[in-house]
Amino acid sequence: MKMEEIYDVIIVGGALAGSRTAGLIAKNGRKVLLIEEHENIGVPCKCTGLVSWRTPEILKNLPKKLIVNKLDTGKFNAPDGTSFVLKSKKVAYVLDRTGLDKFLFDQAIKSGVEVRTEHFEDFQYVDDNVEVRTNKGSHKTKILIGADGANSIVAEKANLEMPKNIFVGLQTTAAGNFQQHAELWFGRNTAPNFFAWVVPENNELARIGVSTPSSPKPYYERFLEARLGHNGLKPDVAGIIRYGIMKDTVNDRVMLVGDAACQVKPFSGGGITYGLIAAQICADAVEKAFEENRFDYDFFKKHYDTEWKNKLLPGIRKGLLLRTVLYNLPDFHVNLLFKGIKLFGNNILSNFDFDLLSG
Ligand SMILES: Cc1cc2nc3c(=O)[nH]c(=O)nc-3n(C[C@H](O)[C@H](O)[C@H](O)COP(=O)(O)OP(=O)(O)OC[C@H]3O[C@@H](n4cnc5c(N)ncnc54)[C@H](O)[C@@H]3O)c2cc1C
Repeated sequence: MKMEEIYDVIIVGGALAGSRTAGLIAKNGRKVLLIEEHENIGVPCKCTGLVSWRTPEILKNLPKKLIVNKLDTGKFNAPDGTSFVLKSKKVAYVLDRTGLDKFLFDQAIKSGVEVRTEHFEDFQYVDDNVEVRTNKGSHKTKILIGADGANSIVAEKANLEMPKNIFVGLQTTAAGNFQQHAELWFGRNTAPNFFAWVVPENNELARIGVSTPSSPKPYYERFLEARLGHNGLKPDVAGIIRYGIMKDTVNDRVMLVGDAACQVKPFSGGGITYGLIAAQICADAVEKAFEENRFDYDFFKKHYDTEWKNKLLPGIRKGLLLRTVLYNLPDFHVNLLFKGIKLFGNNILSNFDFDLLSG
């Protein structure tokens, strides 16, 4: 009789966080199944792909062809047109985000990860395992990891409450004449509670988008009209960002990583760097779990939830504070603030860490 196969780890979600975590765990010799509902990895794209120096630092083998542009300045624009340019000490990278997901997915496969194109639906505890149910059947595992994004079903089924705060982003790629800095545009009429952005791929092409807590379409069209002189371009990127602090990102035999754990910068919505940092911490926790034969809530709370929060919560907290201050100011005060920064603040802010982390 054929023995039923039991995986060491099943990961739901084959984008950035899931593929990276899967690859790291499989490299340690664990038997990993990656469940991704889309046939085509990284598509649809839900990202601008702007990251700090930390991403290539973490992904030392990142192929050069995935770096579309490098920028070391950002231009901040107030509602009345006041603007200042910040030059950062370290460059930011504009990445081919779909290419990045595919690269991490291929790395995972090379490390021995098995992949199935299925939709995760639910799980239950059966004896000393987790039985994972998908649209195509069921699989057993010792540990289940949810890397299924901002609307994580794994989080929901594991009773891990996600914050209600979301914003929705729309972006297109447009031709024009662009300077080599990331532009951020603030204001109630431009993008209430967030910002609009222009991130150049080169002098002739840029990723242009808007994010707001809900219904960004009118703002997207208005921003394209203002920035390009026409608004007919359909979005080629759309997605939601959930931000805040989750009380728990673990349960018995369950961990969440990436957007599923809200490992996202609340001010900018960036999640790539945080997700990659947490993927390593998650993979380390898996290894410890097998070494000590412990798969319970307390173990994962200590070795994953607390560990990643020690590393990322300072940045998330600073981001929440920045959000509260800047996004709640009336336009009039934002104009004044930008005028002040323009006069006095550039030198202080040139040391600004884009990830709000130290080290
Ligand atoms: C408009 C926009 C712009 C952004 N720009 C930036 C940026 O410039 N820089 C940055 O750092 N971050 C940016 N982000 C955030 C960034 O995209 C996310 O933080 C990042 O994608 C998180 O990766 P992830 O792997 O955790 O989740 P996701 O990329 O959301 O991947 C989740 C994966 O899980 C799969 N999945 C979901 N449910 C199931 C299921 N039930 N069964 C099987 N598979 C499932 C999905 O198909 C998907 O492949 C942006 C986000 C948006 C919306």
